[in-house]
Amino acid sequence: MSDCLFCKISSGEIPADIVYEDDRVIAFRDIHPVAPVHILIVPKTHVATMLELAARPDGSDLASAVLKVIPEIARKMQVDQSGFRLINNCGEEGGQTIPHVHFHLIGGRKLGEKLI
Ligand code: AMP
Ligand code: ZN
Repeated sequence: MSDCLFCKISSGEIPADIVYEDDRVIAFRDIHPVAPVHILIVPKTHVATMLELAARPDGSDLASAVLKVIPEIARKMQVDQSGFRLINNCGEEGGQTIPHVHFHLIGGRKLGEKLI
């Protein structure tokens, strides 16, 4: 999608601090990190939300591609042993600000037990 920030990062049009990339998934550091490790994991295909992802015929494949890279990214960021949190903000009240589905991998410090 031409005016989508994460599509532009996926295509290389806009730079990002990329920590993982394959043909279907890209992961890069969040520009406003909330913890020492804050990575955005993004399917390269433009899909607006988690709900839209689930509704697509290829949604399971795309979700699976994201799921499969999480251990490698966690290892690379050295949070595979200590632990981390994975978050998807969906829609306006879910706090989603970029309408291209993505998952926040957050860690590198002790996170509170309360979600928010
Ligand atoms: P969300 O609010 O769940 O849609 O998350 C969007 C995230 O994208 C926020 O945490 C922003 O800090 C982050 N973000 C916005 N612009 C950029 C950018 N150019 N590079 C990396 N992260 C970004
Ligand atoms: Zn997009």
